[in-house]
Amino acid sequence: MSTHTTRLTLSLYEWMLDNSLREDELLKQLREETAELSEANMQVAPEQGQLLAMLVQISKAKKVIEVGVFTGYSSICMARALPDRGKLTACDISEEWTSVARRYWEKAGITKKINLILSPASMSLVQLLEKGGEGKYDLIFLDADKENYDFYYEHCLQLCKSGGIIIIDNMFWDGRVADPCVEDQIVRALRSLANKLKADMRIHFTMVPVGDGMGLILKK
Ligand code: SAH
Ligand code: CA
Repeated sequence: MSTHTTRLTLSLYEWMLDNSLREDELLKQLREETAELSEANMQVAPEQGQLLAMLVQISKAKKVIEVGVFTGYSSICMARALPDRGKLTACDISEEWTSVARRYWEKAGITKKINLILSPASMSLVQLLEKGGEGKYDLIFLDADKENYDFYYEHCLQLCKSGGIIIIDNMFWDGRVADPCVEDQIVRALRSLANKLKADMRIHFTMVPVGDGMGLILKK
């Protein structure tokens, strides 16, 4: 009964949301607008957004990076949880999707907390390091193209302060990581990253079965 994670049936999932989710009108609106897109399933689940906000609060983060903004759901959750003078550096390549995010940042009154960098994240992260960002960030949320996760992780680990947090989304890839019949580039990248993180003594590591599976990293 309690020595393993309780299986999340649909009714238990609904109960959990009914009894914990505090999604406001603005986030609900963004979710509805994003649902019109064919890529809508890239958005984090609302309970993940709420968890990200709490992680920002617990860690008292002031400087946060997000790699993979899409239409802005997770960025809004994190930026709102930052203090007034906190900063979220938001990295993405899509002008189209982040224009939706920018519209909602404006509505949420958090535009001044967010610095959007539109270029491939591999370049953006290197640039942040070149600009003296090493060890300067309190929390980093990694949620862009999975094939590059290992590169992003290594660079984020340098950007993250000791005692800082890195969160990696989609560790489960809809369960495919554990399906021996699936062998594609993304699944291979996620499996080998998980394997590496478990053994990586530079960090504390745990995996949380929320949304599509989140890797939680605390840099030593
Ligand atoms: N965190 C978002 C979901 C991110 S979806 C949310 O909660 O809604 C993944 C995002 O990664 C997309 O917006 C996509 O444009 C972006 N992306 C894909 N490849 C990228 C790259 N090489 N560099 C930066 N961003 C990239
Ligand atoms: Ca994701």
